[in-house]
Amino acid sequence: KSLVEIYDKLSKRELRVLRIIEAGHKKYEFVPQELIERWSRLRKEQVSEIIRRLHYFGLLRRNLSPYLGWKITVAGYDILAIHTLRVKRKLVKISPTPIGVGKESVVYVGETPSGFKVAIKFHRGGVSVFRYEEAFISRLRKYKHLRQIYETRLSAFAEFFALDKIFGVGGLVPEPIAYNRHVVVMAYIDGIELYRLTYYDFKKVADDIVETLRKALGLGIIHGDLSPYNILVGKRSYIIDWPQWIPASYPNSSTYLKRDLENISSFFKKNGVEIPVDELFKIAEEGR
Ligand code: ADP
Ligand code: MN
Repeated sequence: KSLVEIYDKLSKRELRVLRIIEAGHKKYEFVPQELIERWSRLRKEQVSEIIRRLHYFGLLRRNLSPYLGWKITVAGYDILAIHTLRVKRKLVKISPTPIGVGKESVVYVGETPSGFKVAIKFHRGGVSVFRYEEAFISRLRKYKHLRQIYETRLSAFAEFFALDKIFGVGGLVPEPIAYNRHVVVMAYIDGIELYRLTYYDFKKVADDIVETLRKALGLGIIHGDLSPYNILVGKRSYIIDWPQWIPASYPNSSTYLKRDLENISSFFKKNGVEIPVDELFKIAEEGR
């Protein structure tokens, strides 16, 4: 079953119980069924039936010993994020199948209530947390049995943050619409990945990319995974996939920038276009 199909089958009550279990994860890896009964203020049999359905849909994992308890699966978190985005009126439609399955994410297309076409990116990988402030890390510790899911949340947050900053200064990145948990909603870019293009006006693509890099580096934001795979070419060319961005102030950041610029300049060089690598390096130095 697809995510939307499952979501559409769930009742308000079932969603509420799923949220209760999520809250229970602050204390428990497997949330005791007894506690779910108490917190939901529903009858024992009702809770059993709701949990049976949530389990059947693959949203929960069971543990029997030393007590009967439940843990939310990745699909369970997907459902909770969809629900919150729905309630906040950021999303009404989601495609039944993903448009992209990367190693770090699953991306669907969707629509906002006003009919705006969006990409919905479910983060599956975590950004290396070592880059983050102590405040984040101490929050992470509280969730130690949920480290993996929490890292995907950080990853979504990091991507939303970068998109917001860069879009805010007119850079060509998808407009960020919302994020919740491990999910980012952004404008859908009608385009094709740069690596798939053979004959094209590569000079025009490069001009857009360099302009966006100038803006990002001016903000002290280094992409960290820049390549022809993360550039979408439509009427204009957009840089996507920002969760692993690195602050220019970060020690060794220039290693990442060097790799980014090498990836991109070697691609364009093969297609007869020069990238002003030195100028971009200088902007990063100043943005530090
Ligand atoms: P990953 O880390 O999995 O590579 P990406 O952000 O690159 O994540 O997204 C994976 C794929 O989903 C992209 O290669 C692209 O085809 C598609 N995609 C991502 N964001 C958008 C978007 N805003 N508009 C259209 N397609 C997108
Ligand atoms: Mn990518």
